[in-house]
Amino acid sequence: MTVFFHESDLPADVLAPGPVAVDTETMGLVTPRDRLCLVQISDGRGDEHLVRFMPGSDYAAPNLRSVLADPERLKLYHFARFDLAAIQHYLGVMAAPVFCTKIASRMIRTYTDRHGLKELVREVLGRELSKQQQSSDWGAPEINEAQRDYAASDVRFLHALHAAMDARLVREGRRELAQACFDFLPARAQLDLAGWPEIDIFAHA
Ligand code: MN
Repeated sequence: MTVFFHESDLPADVLAPGPVAVDTETMGLVTPRDRLCLVQISDGRGDEHLVRFMPGSDYAAPNLRSVLADPERLKLYHFARFDLAAIQHYLGVMAAPVFCTKIASRMIRTYTDRHGLKELVREVLGRELSKQQQSSDWGAPEINEAQRDYAASDVRFLHALHAAMDARLVREGRRELAQACFDFLPARAQLDLAGWPEIDIFAHA
């Protein structure tokens, strides 16, 4: 269980084959304005890798981009819509195919409106996740220990959540509909970037 910190790209061949958990930290919620500072990625074997981008970065990151763009590798996210847009905008790749634990939660945990990662990890896995560093300065020259721990913990439980939530989608007969939603996420992220962030294009009025 180690958190590895890398500048500007992932080293080659540090990830085992199979699904990867992915999260991003940015300067804020407006993707074209608020630069991508950190990409966290884990193969679910116990280590997390943090890739940091400094101001003015060209976001070349060939190793990271090739993992994210690999159509054979499932990417696990919590609220994929935001991460897909940030990755597309800054790294220039669509990081699909996707399983989103937030969408899965909305489709199976219909008895609650609490679909945050912390709540989900607590209920489904019985583990505690710190959210204390969520609103912190990810653009600082030094990413401190508390920030690293927080950033790594955001990808730490996604493989276990994926297994548990997938089984519950099957149990409730919603696996296929969930998959259709996951498959739409790249288009949803592109709509966000293209100027339809809050407009429901399916709405009548
Ligand atoms: Mn995060």
